[in-house]
Amino acid sequence: MNDTTPHPALAATDPELAALVGAEEQLQAETLRLIPSENYVSQAVLEASGTVLQNKYSEGYPGRRYYEGQQNIDQVETLAIERAKALFGVDHANVQPYSGSPANLAVYLAFAEPGDTVMGMALPMGGHLTHGWGVSVTGKWFRGVQYGVRQDTGLIDFDQVRELALKERPKVIFCGGTALPRTIDFAAFGEIAREAGAVLVADVAHIAGLIVGGAHPSPVPHADVISTTTHKTLRGPRGAMLMSREEHAKALDKAVFPGLQGGPHNQTTAAIAVALREAAQPSFRDYAHAVVANARALAEALLARGFDLVSGGTDNHLILMDLTPKEVPGKIAAKALDRAGIVVNYNTVPYDPRKPFDPSGVRIGTPSLTSRGLGTEQMAQVADWIDRGVAAAGSGDEDALLTIRAEVADLMASFPAPGLPV
Ligand SMILES: *Cc1c(COP(=O)(O)O)cnc(C)c1O
Repeated sequence: MNDTTPHPALAATDPELAALVGAEEQLQAETLRLIPSENYVSQAVLEASGTVLQNKYSEGYPGRRYYEGQQNIDQVETLAIERAKALFGVDHANVQPYSGSPANLAVYLAFAEPGDTVMGMALPMGGHLTHGWGVSVTGKWFRGVQYGVRQDTGLIDFDQVRELALKERPKVIFCGGTALPRTIDFAAFGEIAREAGAVLVADVAHIAGLIVGGAHPSPVPHADVISTTTHKTLRGPRGAMLMSREEHAKALDKAVFPGLQGGPHNQTTAAIAVALREAAQPSFRDYAHAVVANARALAEALLARGFDLVSGGTDNHLILMDLTPKEVPGKIAAKALDRAGIVVNYNTVPYDPRKPFDPSGVRIGTPSLTSRGLGTEQMAQVADWIDRGVAAAGSGDEDALLTIRAEVADLMASFPAPGLPV
């Protein structure tokens, strides 16, 4: 290491760790990152997360803390809260949840008792673990009933949602998910939840950035609670927020602290505030729309190459490919694409005959490549690489994968990523 290293103190103290960070920087620079829940944060967000705000304990909420010395921290958290309220158009925001899963757990704590019935989309249909799936605490300590998508359309089955909700009378209904390529009809969920007397939680972890950028309808005013991570399309640090109308503010705040957590991660709160400020700029609207335009263009280019896409395409940032017709299992494809410098994740597809650890699908998305400035004119190239990579996975052609890897690195070099040393 010399004095041009981007992390001089780290390199001096812990060269082993510094080398790993450097290697990760190189990997994130050279590869085409298509995991739809990932992104690149800005240099400003990175800097905020690396500040001495880290050093401060501040259990409680602004103006109501259990520790002194909050002159600055209170203002940091208030900034984040006010920006979240303005951006999402909500009465109340809690910016303290450590991540999306604890945020959702706080929602259960606020509105349900152990053993109560809760409802969400099944994990293999595109829901999240924390929506009542069996291996999650939310499916173990609550009675999770699960809805899915229709086999013929790949779209949410609202007949099933209504029927289940009226029959099972869940305390809480979650909508939103991790592998849903289509617009979520929050109004339809809101109507069903009201009919069933349930609290509707819109978990917009994946699409929060699209919502505030005007590229996906907002769950306001249909949902009682909005849960979101801050690190996916919103382009903030790893963290989460809970938002609601005033009537649920107290219950949510009490559930997060002291119900579930101790001191908030103030460096993360600061970085959330920065990300929210960035997301309020006109350029972020352009970003959100470009993410969707890129996903649509990529979906078209994949369809043209004979790929089978769940629901036939995408309305948002995400594409779920069923590789069954290509006769390559999702995991083998994902691992081969990784060797080709294209980072994706294998994923179940609805009604997948294969096992979750060896499923039929691959999930991809455009938030990261859009953050680097790739546009619709690059999507045919991306689809071509995926097509060649999957074919090479099927035939075991390692040389073809290395050729793709070099081509990818070459293109990526002309699209420098935010926050990475050049
Ligand atoms: C990512 C995600 C979460 C969980 O977030 P973590 O920060 O990984 O705990 C919850 N719900 C949905 C819909 C998600 O996509």
